Amino acid sequence: MARHSIKRLIVAASVFLGAVAGSEAASAADRRPNFVLIVTDDQGYADVGFHGSKRVRTPHIDALARGGVRFAQAYVTHPYCSPTRAGLLTGRYQQRFGHENNPAYLPENHEIGLPVGEVTIADVLKGAGYVTAAVGKWHLGAGPPFHPGRRGFDEFFGFLGGGRNYFPGARHNDVEGEEYSAAIEHNGEPVELDGYLTHELSDRAVDFVRRHRDRPFFLYLAYNAPHTPYQAPKRLQRRFAGVAGEDCPTYAAMISAVDDGVGRLVETLRRLEIDRHTVIFFLSDNGGQTLYECADNRPLRGRKGQLYEGGVRVPFVVAWPGRLAAGDTFDAPVSSLDIFATAAALAGAVPSARPIDGIDLMPFLTGERQGAPHETLFWRVSGGHGWALRHGRWKLIGRRGGGELYDLETDAGETHNLGAERPELVQQLTGLYRSWNRDLVPPLWRNPS
Ligand code: CA
Repeated sequence: MARHSIKRLIVAASVFLGAVAGSEAASAADRRPNFVLIVTDDQGYADVGFHGSKRVRTPHIDALARGGVRFAQAYVTHPYCSPTRAGLLTGRYQQRFGHENNPAYLPENHEIGLPVGEVTIADVLKGAGYVTAAVGKWHLGAGPPFHPGRRGFDEFFGFLGGGRNYFPGARHNDVEGEEYSAAIEHNGEPVELDGYLTHELSDRAVDFVRRHRDRPFFLYLAYNAPHTPYQAPKRLQRRFAGVAGEDCPTYAAMISAVDDGVGRLVETLRRLEIDRHTVIFFLSDNGGQTLYECADNRPLRGRKGQLYEGGVRVPFVVAWPGRLAAGDTFDAPVSSLDIFATAAALAGAVPSARPIDGIDLMPFLTGERQGAPHETLFWRVSGGHGWALRHGRWKLIGRRGGGELYDLETDAGETHNLGAERPELVQQLTGLYRSWNRDLVPPLWRNPS
């Protein structure tokens, strides 16, 4: 029998066995892609080489962009950490379910965290037979009901709070307090941190991929770098000795450590010969914190915490070797919400019946569908204290009795407020916001600060 016939028989047998064993089956015929979702923390729009950074060097992330598609106008759903992650993992505007502020770090609390009625992308993929892992920062509630192990992740290595000191043992610039010194845990058990946290997270990510090369997997790799505190090994800092600003060589080194990790992970996928079966998403959770003078959101205005572009527009890449055109740039606005919809569709998984706000991007990336995936994108912070929307070329940032209106097609830096010149447009866009706002609920808790 010719070799290809035998192979076909094996495939047919695998399909049959897979059907018998249901969605739990892991078979050679299962060609649904793996997913690796890499998130960085507070990395600015310009803090990647492929957006022209002169200070930070990210050769591996740049290679990902060159080998995949980068989004020129990619948005997250919130200008800071926890709410943006709630939107990312559920594919829904987090204001629909009250996750509009950061949760306090309360390990015994049963109320403050990603509401347990919400379904995460890990839940969906696990239900479809994927093995799932979260590595790194969680920040969706530190109490027992919100633990990653109860939110669809088979494995968890990382920490439950919003940030963490990067070295074992006390250091002079450590952030004090329980949250930033809490134990690193592995599936609920505390582990001793041996080395630099970013490297440890990369190690765990590589280990997970190696162990699960033979079945569909979902890896959520959430680096806390380059979020404060600014801490990096001296060896890495020396790479950036010429960078101006007291903390900025450290900041650049922290991103460099992430970049090294991305490089190792991509290389691992290649060696295991599963790179062509793996979709990698890379994005930052919100804009750079420029108050500390090292992050860079240029040419965008504003920073983390603000609704200007610098707070919510982030570097975002998707790579799938052999399936997505290498080196493309997608210009229309997309959202971090789209990752849920895209991954669920590729996995053939059926999300829950609740409204999903993201769009499956694949038809747009393959050219099957034309135009912009989203007509309008919305933001609301602190129960409506701040709000904004993007509608076509227009961006409106709500203000009492009017708003700041920008034409992002001609003014991406939001320098020329057209609000006073175009009151009827401001009114029309405000109407869109009000209509969206009607489906939302008040925040379930306040920011801890
Ligand atoms: Ca963040």
